[in-house]
Amino acid sequence: MPGNPMINKILEKHKSRGMVAVVSAPSGTGKTTLCRMIVDDIQRAVFSVSITSRPPRPGEKPGYDYVFVDKEDFKQRAQSGEMLEWAKVHGHYYGTSKELVRSALEQDKYVILDIDVQGGIQIKKIFPAAVLVFVMPPSMEELKRRIENRKSETAEEIEKRLQNARDEMEKAPEYDYLVINSDIDKAVSEIKSIIISESLRI
Ligand code: 5GP
Repeated sequence: MPGNPMINKILEKHKSRGMVAVVSAPSGTGKTTLCRMIVDDIQRAVFSVSITSRPPRPGEKPGYDYVFVDKEDFKQRAQSGEMLEWAKVHGHYYGTSKELVRSALEQDKYVILDIDVQGGIQIKKIFPAAVLVFVMPPSMEELKRRIENRKSETAEEIEKRLQNARDEMEKAPEYDYLVINSDIDKAVSEIKSIIISESLRI
């Protein structure tokens, strides 16, 4: 309502507000693809590129998929306070860049964090207004099939990831929303609806 300073202030504040959205899912759920599709679709959304000590998989681009560093470098960065949160997942270290999130929020962006549940729970403590979305595979059999099809892990690593998936799924109740990824377009549209609804929250 133009002319009313109080209402203008409310509208302005509502319009110019960033958001932290965490999308967690067991490895192989297709979460990275989902996050990328969301970032492509929602203009204000940006992907938080994590820092990891895991070696790149074939086709992964440094600086786009992850910032790949060695273990020592990672530990130094964590100690110097460069990371908002970090966790050890499947034997490798992963962390969120404090600077990336700070700068995105300063520009009123919706920053999408593709991180594990340990990270999600840490983020909720730092940003109580963050929205936490848990993505589940349609079944454990389907998850196993997807991880095997990726052909990037050894049998032992696959087993480790499946066990981890079971542990992660048990933490789903700590999240705000649950999305089942049986159809990628449907899952993307559901996550987009969550982000849009949260952006309209007063
Ligand atoms: P992947 O090796 O399959 O890319 O990722 C393994 C797991 O690490 C996934 O669950 C992914 O979401 C998680 N992960 C990726 N980046 C981060 C991060 O910055 N922090 C935390 N806590 N987990 C992350």
